[in-house]
Parts: sequence; structure tokens; C-alpha cells
Amino acid sequence: MKQQTIDPQRSAIMRAVKSKDTVPEMQIRRFVHNLGYRYRLHRGDIPGSPDLTLSRLKCVIFVHGCFWHGHNCQRGKRLPKTNVAYWHTKIEGNTKRDQRNLLALESLGWKPLVIWECELGQNTYRTQRKLAQFLRDRANFER
Ligand SMILES: [Zn+2]
Repeated sequence: MKQQTIDPQRSAIMRAVKSKDTVPEMQIRRFVHNLGYRYRLHRGDIPGSPDLTLSRLKCVIFVHGCFWHGHNCQRGKRLPKTNVAYWHTKIEGNTKRDQRNLLALESLGWKPLVIWECELGQNTYRTQRKLAQFLRDRANFER
């Protein structure tokens, strides 16, 4: 029997839609955990339902997929070849929503940090340092 062919790009997108506990997100959780901070996941009562919320430090962390959130990087700019207008509108909508969420968070006194998918992967040293610095600043600010 002939197997149905599925566009690999399309199926990668479908996977990204479905999964909530993505690999980059798991990586960030591990870093934050290893640094000794406690957090909660996807709090629905906070704008944008951030991936990680550190209530005591009054900060939140988003782990954004470059494609879905329209990052200005190689991965973010690679739109599917079909339905270009659809994807463009879709991703522009996501980007606008992200911006609204960040503004809402800041007006409520939350400090947001966005980590992009492309900042993870092989060489995560810089990202780990950035994360550690962000959390340390928040902890100092608290005192
Ligand atoms: Zn990116």
C-alpha cells in the first residue's frame, strides 16, 4: 500500500501546535530549577499565561517558538510555501498578542523575560547566564 506523503514542514508545524511541554520549555524549567528557584507553570490568571511564573520575584518567563511568535531570525522568517498570506496574518496576530501581553504584564508590575527557541539547542551557555542574571536581578530588587 502506498503511504500518504505528508509535507515535513507542515507536520513539524502541527507538532508545534499540539505540544505544550516542548523541548525548549523543558530546558528552561531545568535551568531555573537548577538555579534553585521555584515556579508555577501556565498560570491562567496572568496575562499571556506565561510558561513559568515566579510569584515571589514577581517575574515571568516565556519560551517562544521562533516560527509561531515571528522571531526576527532564520527560523522565524521561514514561512511555509503554501498559504503564505494565511501564515503571515496568523503570525502577525500572534506577535501583536504577545506585545499586548507584555504591556499588560508590565502595567501589573510583572517583569517578563522572553527566551527564544533559537537561543536554546546546542550552545545554551549564554542563555543560561542571561536567565541567571535576570533572576538574580529580580532577587536583589526584592530586598
Ligand atoms: Zn529565533
